[in-house]
Amino acid sequence: MLTSQWYREKYLLDRMTFRDLMWAYVLYPSIQMYGVLLACSIIGAVVLFPYFPVSPLRVTGSIVGTLLAYPFVEYAVHRFILHGRYLYRSPWTAALWKRIHYDHHQDPNDLRVLFGAGSTTLPTIVVATFPIGVSLGGWVGAILSFATGLACFMVYELCHCMQHLRVNPKIKYLRRVKRHQLLHHFHNEQGNFGITSLFCDQIFGSEYGSAEDVPFSRTVSNLGYADEERSHYPWVAQLSEQKP
Ligand SMILES: [Zn+2]
Ligand SMILES: [Zn+2]
Repeated sequence: MLTSQWYREKYLLDRMTFRDLMWAYVLYPSIQMYGVLLACSIIGAVVLFPYFPVSPLRVTGSIVGTLLAYPFVEYAVHRFILHGRYLYRSPWTAALWKRIHYDHHQDPNDLRVLFGAGSTTLPTIVVATFPIGVSLGGWVGAILSFATGLACFMVYELCHCMQHLRVNPKIKYLRRVKRHQLLHHFHNEQGNFGITSLFCDQIFGSEYGSAEDVPFSRTVSNLGYADEERSHYPWVAQLSEQKP
């Protein structure tokens, strides 16, 4: 299968060039699926429009509303779900948490665990976009909101993997976001949750600009899954000991 073929490759970001990364990005099955779904959603909205007509203002509202909500969703998912302490405490969700964030903090250079899996990202995009789209633009709005969410997520994945590449962005703001993301990974994980912008960290007070601003966190790589937590809730440890 194409998916397992991609996963058989070693994608180590600290040894990859920008060109290697672009190939890995476009060949990743979930990225291809988002691209196909994005195209299908735009076509679907055009086809459905005569049956569920809405004003241009409501169509625009669905797209702009999704774009405005996006940074908040990105921030909330990273801070409260990925860094929450509850998913590893159940045998039903331990493997999910390990895949969606623990493994990435264990080895931020491994692209295979940096990219989200479509089985978790797609439902999240649907849940986050559908209420915005349907309330602002009906069925057509819901499809366009979903398409906007997919586009935002594709940009998110690109920004995130480039932040872990040994190449500094040319744009000053992107260099600053990258520095913040690397501090989140290697200094203190309890701040700098934003991947595509610093906006939410700034308004919710979780931004720090340098290693001098907050103390080093001993849980920066294991996200607090250690010692007593590890022995009380052994499932992630057990899965980590198995062969990949
Ligand atoms: Zn990261
Ligand atoms: Zn994190």
